[in-house]
Amino acid sequence: MTLRLFGAGGAFSRRYGTTCSMVTLRSGQRWLIDCGRQAPDQLHAAGFVWHDITGQVVTHVHGDHVYGMEDFAFIRYFESRGADLACSLGGAMPRLIAHSAVRAEIWETLAPSLRYLNDGRGNLQAGTLGHFFDIVEPVHVEPARHNPWHHAEHFASDDLALVARETLHVPGKPSCSLEFRIDTDPASERIAWWSGDCTVDAEMLKELEPRTSVYFHDCTFVDYPGQVHGYFDKLEALPERVRHKMVLMHHEDNLDQNRVRVEAAGFRVAMPGQVYDLVSGQRLS
Ligand SMILES: [Zn+2]
Ligand SMILES: [Zn+2]
Repeated sequence: MTLRLFGAGGAFSRRYGTTCSMVTLRSGQRWLIDCGRQAPDQLHAAGFVWHDITGQVVTHVHGDHVYGMEDFAFIRYFESRGADLACSLGGAMPRLIAHSAVRAEIWETLAPSLRYLNDGRGNLQAGTLGHFFDIVEPVHVEPARHNPWHHAEHFASDDLALVARETLHVPGKPSCSLEFRIDTDPASERIAWWSGDCTVDAEMLKELEPRTSVYFHDCTFVDYPGQVHGYFDKLEALPERVRHKMVLMHHEDNLDQNRVRVEAAGFRVAMPGQVYDLVSGQRLS
């Protein structure tokens, strides 16, 4: 079970690309984590087409995480590729896993493009998210804590199992971290953790450590009132056992000015094209 980074940069990075990663499961299914505005070109450059992708996981709705989804939806809906028929001709739809509160915002951003399907009975705006994506419903939900929506939603689809758990990114906005189950034994609770975008929740990260192989955390070197990302000083203050399992991603272009500090603290740094084994937490290439 591996994770390949297509884009490893933050929202405004010009050097490292907007966020999009691909998880390859034991079954061979490929799932994307987020689909930023550069994702269509990142996939193309890496030699993949949308028909190679089984499904899409979304952490939250910001352009650097979802603006590639319209391209994904339209190509799969209208284009056939070899034996893989277009969805509009009955081909398999890409699956979609997102917390229900996030899903509602996905539709808000895609609807102006995707709703124009003609139902043949006079409704020219009959399109829904379900016309373009096979929406995976949660198998279990955790009750609301900090916001009106579920604290967490648990998903399973073939050999993919994950928890989308609310985090603090922009106050009042639905945004989730992802906990990917990495063992085939259903009794195992070991995970690989993906932050999406969020502030540093040191207590949670410490609590998760014994059962976590690797953390991917968004990172910023600039603090400001109302911080919405993983501020490096707070990541640096985490215990060594957490830092040594952590890969910093979603960083901005000032990374190199801070690299000495980053490496001295034992962090690894995500770069486009890298591949990690999620079970061992080690980088493969
Ligand atoms: Zn972001
Ligand atoms: Zn964001």
